[in-house]
Amino acid sequence: MSVIKRFIAGAVCPRCGEMDTIRTYRDEEREHKECVRCDYVDSMRLDGEVEAEELETRVNRENAPVIEEGAQPLLFTPNPGSKRKDH
Ligand SMILES: [Zn+2]
Repeated sequence: MSVIKRFIAGAVCPRCGEMDTIRTYRDEEREHKECVRCDYVDSMRLDGEVEAEELETRVNRENAPVIEEGAQPLLFTPNPGSKRKDH
């Protein structure tokens, strides 16, 4: 399975501040972002759920959190751990 990486137009890297350097791609359960200028990486779950322990503000694991457009949490979790959902 080939991974398609595409640039996000107008996206600014929060680490190096460059515009149009963020690429996004996804695997089975996560959407990843990476900067081609620095080693910034970010990922989020495709089901819209955020890892609650990484985001202690306003997120409650029992209340399926809603992510506002353009307000995606910046977090990097190398190991998603045991919170997989089966659906
Ligand atoms: Zn960068």
